[in-house]
Amino acid sequence: MPITNKVMLITYPDSLGKNIEELRDVLNNDLKGAVGGIHLLPFFPSTGDRGFAPTDYTKVDPKFGDWSDVEKLGQEYYLMFDFMINHISRHSKYYEDFQQKKDKSKYADLFLSWDKFWPKGRPTKADVDLIYKRKDKAPYQEITFADGSKEKLWNTFGPEQIDLDVRKKVTQEFIKQTLNQLIEHCADIIRLDAFAYAVKKLDTNDFFVEPEIWDLLAQVRDDIAAKGAMILPEIHEHYSMPFKIAKHGYFIYDFALPMVTLYSLYSGKSERLAHWLKMCPMKQFTTLDTHDGIGVVDARDILTPEEVKYTSQELYKVGANVKKKYSSAEYHNLDIYQINTTFYSALGDDDKKYFMARLLQVFAPGIPQIYYVGMLAGKNDIKLLEETKEGRNINRHYYTREEVAEEVKRPVVASLLKLFTFRNTEAAFDLEGNIEVETPSENEIRIVRMNKDQTHKAELKANLKTLDYQVLADGKEINF
Ligand code: BGC
Repeated sequence: MPITNKVMLITYPDSLGKNIEELRDVLNNDLKGAVGGIHLLPFFPSTGDRGFAPTDYTKVDPKFGDWSDVEKLGQEYYLMFDFMINHISRHSKYYEDFQQKKDKSKYADLFLSWDKFWPKGRPTKADVDLIYKRKDKAPYQEITFADGSKEKLWNTFGPEQIDLDVRKKVTQEFIKQTLNQLIEHCADIIRLDAFAYAVKKLDTNDFFVEPEIWDLLAQVRDDIAAKGAMILPEIHEHYSMPFKIAKHGYFIYDFALPMVTLYSLYSGKSERLAHWLKMCPMKQFTTLDTHDGIGVVDARDILTPEEVKYTSQELYKVGANVKKKYSSAEYHNLDIYQINTTFYSALGDDDKKYFMARLLQVFAPGIPQIYYVGMLAGKNDIKLLEETKEGRNINRHYYTREEVAEEVKRPVVASLLKLFTFRNTEAAFDLEGNIEVETPSENEIRIVRMNKDQTHKAELKANLKTLDYQVLADGKEINF
């Protein structure tokens, strides 16, 4: 179904109940009305990174269900699927064929040779230092072919995720075919995972390489446009980069809001948040939490370096069970610029503060995305984190079907569900409408949303220090 201006839930296929069928039951009962769309995190067979090393996009991992389960969801909710445009599994048929047949493989061009990429005598240390990396070693992996010969391949992320050469014809064909196939199975939005790493070019930092990156986005957009689907490019960086993407007409993510909101609720000050809300576009999906950590670089220059530092320090001080080591190599942290915690625990497991954060998100420009742990105001899962030594697992609790039924009875969760239902039904949150933001005092913020025809008005007055607030819809007070 076409995308609607309603809350998008981010969830793994086995996070709210054990599979997609149970997820659907949760959505249609426990979360009814609160959710309009779903970012169904990767559900394809995969060999690592919780689905982000897919082997085969034509299949649903049988652990989660089958295509008919996905399509049933797609009849009731708009759906977003991930496409890992930068890489594919080391155990995909493509890679395995290449490993067997080397240059004779019809997939040989799908992968990017590190050895062939560099001119003779390079890369030098300076070349490697220049590459934009989220880990501190050169991004390659050596492949041993069936005939015993070896070659280095580009490998930006984990060992299971081998980079694709997006500029080759065979890769472009693979992209087009795969995306069209996903759309046949009800994808309305394609999330272009880590797309900024996809283009590699000599003497650049191999990240968000212009102008080539625009050609890639346009190519993908055009591949699927005829079918009415759209793309959401994913990038964690300085806001000027997503803003450029917005200028090219695409929807973007607001990954700055998490840090800006934390700063505002730790300090009680409203000015930075107000400034950000006035700057960011309507055509965006807002986040406070995702399956990854909280992005720090994303808030650069919206907060000063001192404010970023203050926010990180408060996170470790005020946050419940938020520790530096959980975002370090000891816990296999993928991204040195992200902090691993649930958003609820980042606010000290405090119901009032947390509700305020979600209220602000709902009034922000764009469509709110709510991560499933956030939907249930979930605490840091230290048990899962320690069992797996995987930092991001602190925010990836597996809820059984029964647990969900219990969690939704908590007053804070019940209030959140009411809030999201209000967001989904109130006409004032029109993406073509208006937003006005004021700061009546150092601690207060007032946000007014109005639809395009100016016939509906929703207003939030909030004090970020005392946490008092009032919500009015067309002049009538709304209680959550
Ligand atoms: C995803 C991560 C993933 C990485 C590599 C990211 O941007 O959100 O979860 O590990 O891409 O696929």
